[in-house]
Amino acid sequence: MEHLEAMDGVFLDRRNIYTVSRNPGVRVYGERLVNIHGTEYREWIPNRSKLAAYIACGGRTFPFRKDSKVLYLGAASGTTSSHVSDIVSDGIVYCIEFAPRSFRDLVNTAKGRDNMMPILGDATKPEEYSFAVSDVDIVYEDVAQKRQADILVDNMERFNARYGMVSIKARSEDVTADPKDVFEASAERLRRRGCKVLEMVDLSPYEKDHVMIVVEKQRCVYSIAIRDGEFLMVYNPKRNGWEMPGGRIERGETVEEAASREFLEESGYDVDIIGRMSIGYCDVCACTLGEKIGDGEMKSGFFRTLPSDLAFDTDEYIMVIDWARSLLG
Ligand code: SAM
Repeated sequence: MEHLEAMDGVFLDRRNIYTVSRNPGVRVYGERLVNIHGTEYREWIPNRSKLAAYIACGGRTFPFRKDSKVLYLGAASGTTSSHVSDIVSDGIVYCIEFAPRSFRDLVNTAKGRDNMMPILGDATKPEEYSFAVSDVDIVYEDVAQKRQADILVDNMERFNARYGMVSIKARSEDVTADPKDVFEASAERLRRRGCKVLEMVDLSPYEKDHVMIVVEKQRCVYSIAIRDGEFLMVYNPKRNGWEMPGGRIERGETVEEAASREFLEESGYDVDIIGRMSIGYCDVCACTLGEKIGDGEMKSGFFRTLPSDLAFDTDEYIMVIDWARSLLG
C-alpha cells in the first residue's frame, strides 16, 4: 500500500484507492476492508464517490489535512463523507443533508465516527445551521441542484473557508445546455465571486457530465476603529485614497488576529475588537481605538465624516461605519 503523494490520508495499491478506517470492522456502503499489519483500510470506490472519482481521474489539488475542519453539503447517507472523516482524523466534518430519509442513514454512518457531525439542514440556507457549525477550512459540495457555484461561495463566506470543492452536475443547472457551457459558466461565476479556480476535472467515465472544481478564496478583513466619535483611516498612496486599515487573513490566523495585525502594521495603533460581520467578499471588525504603539506603514487621519478621496466604495463605508457606531455606542 502506497501513500498518495501530497494527499494526506489517501492510499493506493496497484489499482484501488483507500482510506484508513476510523471505525474498523464497519462497512458503510459494502466497500472492501483490507487489513495490513493491524491497520484497516477501506476501499474508496470511484463509481460510488465523486471525490474518489476526482482522484482516479487525475485531480491532484487536495486541500484536506489531518486536522482540517470540513463543511460537507449534500452528505446523503454518508458514503463520501465517511472517507473524509477517515482522512481528517484530528479534524471534524459537519455533514449537511436535507432529505430526512438519507439523514437517518447518515446518523447511522456517523455512529462510531466521533469527528462526523450530521446536521439536518438546507445548504441554500447556511444561516439556519450556523449555530452548530464553526469556521471551517474547506467546504465540499455535492448537492445536485441549481446554483451549485453560488451555494458553495455562500457557505465559504459564511464559514470563512479558504478552500472549496464542488461537483457540478450539468443537468442540475440546465437540462438543455451543452455541459461544457454549464461548466464554464459555473467556473466564471466562482471567479466573479472572488474565487481562484485551482483545478477543474472531468469525472467521466465514473460520472457522466460532471466536473469537480477546486477553488481558493483569499480572505480579507478591515476594521472601523472609533475614538471620541472619530474613526481612523489610512492614506494609501498606491490607491491615491483614504481607506480603513485591513488586508489578507493569513493561513492559521483568526479573523480577529488578522484585523489587529493589519491595523497595527498600517496605522501603528492597537485596537480592541468589539464585533465582526461579513459583507460577502470581506469581514469587517468594529473596534475601539487603543494606544499608538508603533510606526504605521501609512499616514493616519481621524474623521467624523468620510473624506472625498476614498480608495473604496462610499456606500459600503457608510453602511459599515453606521454599524460600528451602533455597536460602540
Ligand atoms: N455526496 C454524497 C456522497 O458522495 O456520498 C452523495 C450526494 S447526492 C448526489 C446529493 C444529496 O444532496 C442528496 O442526498 C440530496 O438530498 C442532497 N441535497 C440536495 N439539495 C440539498 C440542499 N439544498 N441542502 C442539503 N442537502 C441537499
